[in-house]
Amino acid sequence: MPEKRRCRVCGAEISMSANICPKCGAKQSRPLLVLIMVVAFIVIFIVEMSIMSKNRDRDQADSVTAASQSDDAS
Ligand SMILES: [Zn+2]
Repeated sequence: MPEKRRCRVCGAEISMSANICPKCGAKQSRPLLVLIMVVAFIVIFIVEMSIMSKNRDRDQADSVTAASQSDDAS
């Protein structure tokens, strides 16, 4: 796998680490690897948040049930 990519603007081959095309000077998007890492981080964060919120919802449901039961009793 060659460590080259193409300029979005002029199509010239540029280095993966180059942020600016040496031919036309156009700014390049971030390397795909960085994008994948960012997406993976966000996915892990969302999964952890959903697990935490599920546990919290279950705790809240238990306390709400207990509260409504005590309300019914009184
Ligand atoms: Zn270019």
